[in-house]
Amino acid sequence: MATLTLENVTKRFADGDDEIVAVDDVSIEIDDGEFLVLVGPSGCGKSTTLRMVAGLETISEGAIAIDDEIINDVPAQRRDIAMVFQSYALYPHMTVRENMRFGLEESTDLDTETMDGSVERTAELLEIEELLDRKPGELSGGQQQRVALGRAIVRDPSVFLMDEPLSNLDAKLRAGMRMELQRLQNDLDVTTVYVTHDQTEAMTMGDRIAILDGGKLQQVATPLECYHRPRNLFVAGFIGEPSMNFFDATLEGDELVLEGTELSYPLSAPIREELEGETELVLGVRPEDVKILDEATDDHAFPVTVDVVEPMGNENNLLATFEGSELSINAIVDGMRHVQADERYAARLPESAIHLFDRSSGRALH
Ligand code: ATP
Repeated sequence: MATLTLENVTKRFADGDDEIVAVDDVSIEIDDGEFLVLVGPSGCGKSTTLRMVAGLETISEGAIAIDDEIINDVPAQRRDIAMVFQSYALYPHMTVRENMRFGLEESTDLDTETMDGSVERTAELLEIEELLDRKPGELSGGQQQRVALGRAIVRDPSVFLMDEPLSNLDAKLRAGMRMELQRLQNDLDVTTVYVTHDQTEAMTMGDRIAILDGGKLQQVATPLECYHRPRNLFVAGFIGEPSMNFFDATLEGDELVLEGTELSYPLSAPIREELEGETELVLGVRPEDVKILDEATDDHAFPVTVDVVEPMGNENNLLATFEGSELSINAIVDGMRHVQADERYAARLPESAIHLFDRSSGRALH
C-alpha cells in the first residue's frame, strides 16, 4: 500500500548542442490504491515519466516519492515497484513458472516452496495454471500478456507501472483484458500508473487520468470531469471520440459570430459574464450533443446539408455542412433515426452543451 508523488519533475535529454525537455515540471499525487492513467499523444513524455518512477531513467529536476520516502536515488530493483511492458519482456528460454518466479528471486529471499506457492496462486488468479510449464514461444499474445502481468503481481509490489500493456493485442482481446485488468486492480488494490495513448482505455480504466502534451501536464481529473469540464482546448479535443467540433468565433455584442460564415449564435448573459472580456474565442460542441432536426426551431439551430451518414448500428455518425459556408460539423444521432445524405436538416447546438475557449491561450472559459 503506497502513495506515489511526483513533485515538479522534469526530464531533459541532450540532443547534440540542444536539449529536449521530455517532461516539464510535472506534479501529480497518486493515492494509495488509485488507478491513474497517464495519457497523451506520441512523444508527449508518458514513457519517460513512467521510466523515471521505475528508476530506469534519472530525474533532471524535482522529486519522486513513495509514501514519504524520496526515491530519486534508490536503484530500480530496490523501489518495490513492478513494471509491465508493452513487449511483455518474457525470457524465451524459461517456462512460465520460471519467468514468474524470476521476479521473486530477484526481489526477495523466500525459499523455493514459498515462491512456488505464490506463483501458483497468481497463476490461478489469472487463469493460466495450465500454462505454467510452457515457454513463451508456445503462447498466444494474450497468454503472454497474462504471464507478464503474473510476473508483476507475484512480487506483491507497492506500485504497479504499466506501459501500454494491451497495445499488442487485437481489438477484441484488448477490450476483454481492459475489463480484467480493472477487476484485478480492484481486487489487489495496488497503486497503479498505466500509460496509454488510447483515450478509450484512459476513459474506461482510470480512477483519474493525467493528460500530457509536449511534456506538460494539461489536466489531472476523473474521466468524467475531463470529458465534461476540459481545462483547455487540447484536453477537449483529445478526450471524446469522435472529437469535439471546434469553430473559431468572435463575440459581437451578445452574439458569437462563427468565422467564415454569416451564422451568429446568441449567448445568454450568465455565459457572457464568464468570458472575462475575451472576444476571440473557440466554440466547442461534442458530436453527441449536436441535435439534428428536420428544420431550425430556434436561434441555436442552423440549416445544414448532411454530406455523409455512417451507420454504426446503435448510432449514426454524420458529417454535415452549414448552409452558405464551407464549415462542417460532426453529429451523432440515434441509430433508429433515419437521416439521408444530401438532404437538408438543421443542426442545433444546445447552449447547455457548448464549451468556450480563449483562442490565444486555449484556456477553457465556459
Ligand atoms: P510514445 O507514445 O510514442 O511512446 P511517449 O509519450 O511515451 O511517446 P517519450 O518516449 O516519453 O514519449 O518521449 C518524450 C520525448 O523525449 C520525445 O520527444 C522523445 O523523442 C524524447 N526522448 C525519449 N527518450 C529519449 C532519449 N533517450 N534521448 C533523447 N530523447 C529522448
